[in-house]
Amino acid sequence: MKDVLILAIESSCDETAAAVVANGRRVLSNVISSQIALHKVYGGVVPEIASREHIKAIDKVIDEALLKSGKTLEDMDAVAVTCGPGLVGALLVGISEAKALAFAAGKPLVPVHHIEGHIAANYIENAVWKPPFICLVASGGHTHLVHIKDYGSFEIMGKTRDDAAGEAYDKVARVLDIPYPGGPGIDALAKEGDPDAIAFPRVRLEADSYDFSFSGIKSAVINYLNNAKRKGEEVNRADVAASFQKAVVDVLTEKSVRACRNAGVNRLALAGGVSANSCLRESIRLECEKYGIEMCVPAPSLCTDNAAMIGSAAYYEFINGNIAGPDLNAYPSLKLGEKCINKKTDDVLGLADAISDKIMNNTEYVRYKAAMDNLKNTPELYERVQNFKKRMFEFMLARQENRHTFDEEKYLSQEYFKILLNEDAKIYFENGLSLIKLFEEILNRALCKCMLDVFAGD
Ligand code: ADP
Ligand code: MG
Repeated sequence: MKDVLILAIESSCDETAAAVVANGRRVLSNVISSQIALHKVYGGVVPEIASREHIKAIDKVIDEALLKSGKTLEDMDAVAVTCGPGLVGALLVGISEAKALAFAAGKPLVPVHHIEGHIAANYIENAVWKPPFICLVASGGHTHLVHIKDYGSFEIMGKTRDDAAGEAYDKVARVLDIPYPGGPGIDALAKEGDPDAIAFPRVRLEADSYDFSFSGIKSAVINYLNNAKRKGEEVNRADVAASFQKAVVDVLTEKSVRACRNAGVNRLALAGGVSANSCLRESIRLECEKYGIEMCVPAPSLCTDNAAMIGSAAYYEFINGNIAGPDLNAYPSLKLGEKCINKKTDDVLGLADAISDKIMNNTEYVRYKAAMDNLKNTPELYERVQNFKKRMFEFMLARQENRHTFDEEKYLSQEYFKILLNEDAKIYFENGLSLIKLFEEILNRALCKCMLDVFAGD
């Protein structure tokens, strides 16, 4: 039987990647151009820089992937691309490129969910690995426990309620003066430390919960370091790294194994950048051995972002007929299992309606309204703020539809700072900010993330 060949593109965060994968399992080429060195200076990914770097790298990366695979674009059966979740500008670079290639070569375009890609890395690692299984997905942006019932069929058993595991690693690394991304640095430093030296909290939430919370442990580490500094005590960084890592790994291991046992599924897979962690891999291996659970963990290079995993997931989407048209958009907050085909702007407007219903009686909203009424005493300022607000909302919707301009973004942030110089307006904005935090909670960072950026003068 003829191989199904897919050219896959990944650009959701700070790696520009392309790969050619046969039948979802065999990697013919896997090319990654990482921007980590560029973002290191800022201690994290800067979205604008990421988008621009993707534009510079993408053609070269795709050419190289095709060349290394020994195939041509004409040989491909489909072109696949990550359509979400991720940074909107970064996603759009890959999506535009994939659309252009698919159109030019007359190939079907397959949209892929980034986390589905991470999970599929296991199909490459182990050629006979298949659903059903439980997968712990732990990366810089996500921490999920997922029951994969079939290809493309997912039940999310738990997820983080605040920081992702990788985010906690990166934040703790920063306070330990370990360069971004912090995971590998902590992993290495922890090898020299005592994991039982400091009793950092294990946040397990409700007894039967599969959710995670990592912001508490991050704060505990920061407090520990601050206390030591205040008392002038010497800190053993390796002990801090090892103890922090052990606390995170204990919780990840315990919940993953419990999920398998309770769901009656004796197969556990790992995915995402944090799965490259040596302590996590060993801890899960030991627990799985104890309970007779079969385990699959991708090679570290397949754990962090790459396009081979997207090519694997795309194969199963493709044979199930999930193909997008040239109107494919980027979906920065796409949920696992949600298809991005035919998602309309109406969804965004529907969400806006849902929030306004929820916030009308909220105390933050009442405080915000009062501050706004107070502003009316200075009509000129009031009008200016109203105008700002109107343009900001227009901007927010435009940004959802990816038709915003950077000039408008610049104007809004400058205007914001000018208005802030006025004390009355400051109160309005402070209350507005807590309101936006509330929005954000309700929408789980979807719609209002961009409002937050504008308010923060991003
Ligand atoms: P995302 O797709 O969410 O951006 P990735 O899957 O690319 O994330 O993973 C990046 C994350 O993985 C970073 O937070 C990084 O610190 C973490 N990471 C990478 N290697 C390790 C490791 N050995 N130990 C712990 N964390 C790691
Ligand atoms: Mg990733």
